Amino acid sequence: MLKMQNVYKTYKNGDEFLHALHDVSLEFQPGDFAFLLGESGSGKSTLLNVLSGLDVPSKGSVLIEGKDTDSFSKKDFATFRNNHVGFVFQEYNLIEHLSVMDNVMLPLLFQGVDKKEAQKRATTELDKIGLKKHIAKKPMQLSGGQQQRVAIARALVTNPKIILADEPTGSLDEKMGEKTLAYLKEHAQDKIVIVVTHNEELADKFANRTIHIQDGKILNDTNQRESKPEKQKSLDLKSPKVPLGMLFKFAKNNVFSRIFRSLFTSAIVAIGFVAILLLTFIIMGIRGSLSDAIGSLIPPDEYLLHPIEDTYIDNDTFERVKDNDSVEALRYNIHMRIDTRYRSLEENTYDLNYLALPYDAFAFERDGTLHGRLPENDDEVVISLRTALTLRGMQMVDEESYEYIFNLVDGYTLNADYLDSEFDESKTFTIVGMSEERQQRNVYLTYDALLNIAEERLGNEEFRTSAVAYLTTGDDGEIDSLTRQLRDEEGLVLRNVFGEITAQIDDIMFTALQWFVGIALISLAVAGILIGLVIYTSVLERVREIGILTALGARASNIRGIFLIESGISGLLSGVFASVAAVFIALGLNRLFNNFIETPLNLLLGGELNITLLSPSIAPLAIVLVAGVLYAMLSGWIPSRHATKLNAVSALRKE
Ligand code: ADP
Ligand code: MG
Repeated sequence: MLKMQNVYKTYKNGDEFLHALHDVSLEFQPGDFAFLLGESGSGKSTLLNVLSGLDVPSKGSVLIEGKDTDSFSKKDFATFRNNHVGFVFQEYNLIEHLSVMDNVMLPLLFQGVDKKEAQKRATTELDKIGLKKHIAKKPMQLSGGQQQRVAIARALVTNPKIILADEPTGSLDEKMGEKTLAYLKEHAQDKIVIVVTHNEELADKFANRTIHIQDGKILNDTNQRESKPEKQKSLDLKSPKVPLGMLFKFAKNNVFSRIFRSLFTSAIVAIGFVAILLLTFIIMGIRGSLSDAIGSLIPPDEYLLHPIEDTYIDNDTFERVKDNDSVEALRYNIHMRIDTRYRSLEENTYDLNYLALPYDAFAFERDGTLHGRLPENDDEVVISLRTALTLRGMQMVDEESYEYIFNLVDGYTLNADYLDSEFDESKTFTIVGMSEERQQRNVYLTYDALLNIAEERLGNEEFRTSAVAYLTTGDDGEIDSLTRQLRDEEGLVLRNVFGEITAQIDDIMFTALQWFVGIALISLAVAGILIGLVIYTSVLERVREIGILTALGARASNIRGIFLIESGISGLLSGVFASVAAVFIALGLNRLFNNFIETPLNLLLGGELNITLLSPSIAPLAIVLVAGVLYAMLSGWIPSRHATKLNAVSALRKE
């Protein structure tokens, strides 16, 4: 059932050819407990490796269950080893970072056996060799004899048809060696067992067949059995799904066994991410603060309306536009620079910069920030919070006190000359409402009252240049058609000032962004190279482990998976480092800015500056985390592929 036909394995040594195997034909049957004897370098290991598919013959064929392995892929061989072959090595070749239990479970997990079942079978196997109480230990904590027994348990746990043992007693003393072989013989009754050794005494004691090999040639074979032609049996070579959890465990152990190196590289890689995050936070923070600030001065949904040529919209046009169905609100704003001083109730003097007089109640109703009500008659006014405070000679107050402030000025009669000394002194206004505007000293009158004052105060000419009309539409979708209509029918231009300004800010931000993208690309390139190198180093350090896994039947995809996951963990660590660091730095910088720049500036200027320098938000953090993991896996791709290309035989040879 296991057959070699005229097998050659040739190595080229300079100009000379060396036949590690020279025309070897052998046949093995279940029940064979065969000893392969020969001096060092005679080709024993090569023979075992060719039988298990770890190595391919240069010439000749290996048949398994009558099937020529010529057609086997690497993956077929992996599955064949996993399902049908148990290996025992001289150096035990246990995986050192896994527990005894995990080592024995490993071939079962590669077979796709579920974890619970694998644990049960591994425990049974370890119990048989008297090592049940050591299952949680690491291999290094056991004696050589115990380790070799664990290795045998690992070879037997899948109940394979073939056991290949390469000098299994080589590292043990005589007594231990005999015990080990006795154990192997007892538990491998109906299997093909091939034991490599150069100890003839052991062969005499245990073997039911001995084969001598010299310079790659079979000298003699005590096989008594007839070679009978074999029917081709089916060989199950379906490759199962290896649980991700197991690959993850390997990757995690790789990371943690070199924890300082892992943390250090992750931290270095994180620097790039931190830079990107902070720059993003700054862009978002400043942009947010700026558009908030602009938005508080210029309502985002208001459109500036002005004639294409003139600066002034005549009354008839104004009324026509106002009646347009798409227009929700239209107002005149007249900026009057009043040079004279106006007196507060306490007789102090302040500059009243301008009076803004909305045509419509719209602006207040929308925000719900009106205390009291809107002016209904021409002698009623609404004032801003700032105006109210100025009238009362008070400093800025908290939001809870707005209503209180309004109560102080509600119903108060304002002589016109408080607003402007040039107004007729007999003219009075009653305060009926207050807006919550903190910045501007505004006074709102009805449209008619405004026109009266404007004409009286400014004269017709100046009124024209000071008048600005604002338009709001109920439906933003109508803006385009409304713009076209007003341009074609009325010769008016509609402009969204807020949009124009924010577009300019976005322009600046976009330039900044291009720089950031540059920085991001450079730091990502550095990060990628670093992660690639670390994974490559990890692969080189684990050449032997990769060899063991290959012998146990791990497929290339499993091995690649381990290193890809390791890359991913490193990327995740970097992302987490970067996120935590960036948030802390951002909060710190905000605090510094607030304590040392913003607050003193506000105190100095009596301003209401409220700038968030950096605005940490979830989206960029999440993107960095996900992108970090994916990018690290991409960086680890080439070294991971390299891991699968390693030659298992030479990896195991390395001592
Ligand atoms: P044994 O296990 O009996 O000690 P091996 O099967 O390991 O012998 O090696 C048989 C011969 O093949 C030796 O001469 C060895 O040097 C040679 N050999 C094995 N592997 C290689 C290789 N990868 N390249 C060149 N020569 C090799
Ligand atoms: Mg050898």
